Amino acid sequence: MTAQESKTNVALLVSPGIGHLIPFLELAHRLVHYHNLQATLFVVCSSTSAAESHLLQKSSAVNIVPLRPTVSLDPNANFIDKIKAIMSASSPLLRRSLSAAQPLPAALIVDLFGTWALAIAHELGMLGFVFMTTSAWFLSLAMFFPTMDKQMIDDHVYSHEPLRIPGCSPVRFENTVSVFEEDDYEGFFGIMARELGTADGILSNTWQDLEPTTIKALTEIETLTYGKVKGVPIYPIGPLTKCCEPNLESEVLKWLDRQPDESVIYVSFGSGGTLSEEQIKELAWGLELSQQRFVWVIRPPVDTDSSGTFFTAGNESGDHKWPPEYLPEGFVNRTKEVGLLVPIWGPQAEILSHRSVRGFLTHTGWNSSLESIVNGVAMVTWPLYAAQKMNAAELTEEVGVGVRVSEGLVSREEIESKVRKIMAEEDEEGREIRERVKALKRSGERAAAKGGSSYNSLAEVAAECDIFRRQTQLRRAAAA
Ligand code: UDP
Repeated sequence: MTAQESKTNVALLVSPGIGHLIPFLELAHRLVHYHNLQATLFVVCSSTSAAESHLLQKSSAVNIVPLRPTVSLDPNANFIDKIKAIMSASSPLLRRSLSAAQPLPAALIVDLFGTWALAIAHELGMLGFVFMTTSAWFLSLAMFFPTMDKQMIDDHVYSHEPLRIPGCSPVRFENTVSVFEEDDYEGFFGIMARELGTADGILSNTWQDLEPTTIKALTEIETLTYGKVKGVPIYPIGPLTKCCEPNLESEVLKWLDRQPDESVIYVSFGSGGTLSEEQIKELAWGLELSQQRFVWVIRPPVDTDSSGTFFTAGNESGDHKWPPEYLPEGFVNRTKEVGLLVPIWGPQAEILSHRSVRGFLTHTGWNSSLESIVNGVAMVTWPLYAAQKMNAAELTEEVGVGVRVSEGLVSREEIESKVRKIMAEEDEEGREIRERVKALKRSGERAAAKGGSSYNSLAEVAAECDIFRRQTQLRRAAAA
């Protein structure tokens, strides 16, 4: 047996969207480099965005297999329904690829849109894990969901009562996930939540010091009844964030090199986030009035959909007029000494790790939130869709690493004052927030380092896969 053949092989299945791809690539990388496994990553895509293509080209250690199902998408459907349609069309492709794999991987690790594939893994004789690229708090909501009675959910959806999750903070309606703002929560969330209970384990992109109470509730409290998902082991393995590309040549990094230490606020709404024209104008005014240095990843306005670029992350917009017409007149000229506009897409991991960046105005996607924390950067939180409001509530009210803007159209005055709070030396509350985020950065480093809690958690998963593979080999040998 060669050294390669003696390694345990695992497969990972990731749904469309850069926010899933980034942590899955990092997970695969760690399994290969730190835990001595082999990894094949199945990437489901109907079309690959520029940002996704760039990432996939860079990842050499992992075997990447694109799954491209043929599917016609309703252009008016929301992004969750589009992902669901693409994922379900990829099911036969995944089954065929796994069935043909030699040797069969010991385990399949899926994301929250791929929980249906756990059944395929089990049917083929593999372990099935879920990697939740969300907070543990969101995971606790999903795990508790199957035991909630209909009345409790209806009270939340229609009467806006908080959702009470045993051992965890309640979810107030104003912070709820977007599926509960519609009637059809059962369609995706309910099915995913039930399928979670069939997993052999759930990996979560979090660590002990970030979400201690929730992790305790999910892993330790014996009195909790998580119904169908009771007994599924939870593995906090975070923070798993995108590594910086060494020697990346970029105008924005050169610009940051010329700025003083901790003087810049970085503004970005993730891969999908878009704002209305009116809101973009207010944001521009707010940044200008704050008199802080800024880098702003800017996209053309979309008035009807706050997740407007989810499937086209990093693609050219076709809007080549510069400066863009939708900015206030004279804005670019007035702010040219202190601000930099980056069209469409920026090297976020590198920007956040730059010594000149002190604050991040963010939509609080979980990856962006973690990237901010691992770089010790305080946040102005501006949630838009999906689980972002839950994340913003957690980051500001519980973890204390940011301040949050109000709902609806956010005024220039509010933006000015929240940006100053995070950036200004003299603001006492801002200083405390900055100290907390720096302490959390250090705790994240300890958790992920060899021997740390998250490192050990992932080592347990890898060991389970190893043991399972050996047992399967023995069983097969005995049967032959
Ligand atoms: N990202 C980036 N450049 C951009 C915007 C986003 O590199 O201009 C990356 C960001 O670093 C993060 C991911 O895209 O890793 C977005 O994931 P997140 O969970 O924050 O939000 P989503 O886009 O899924 O809403």
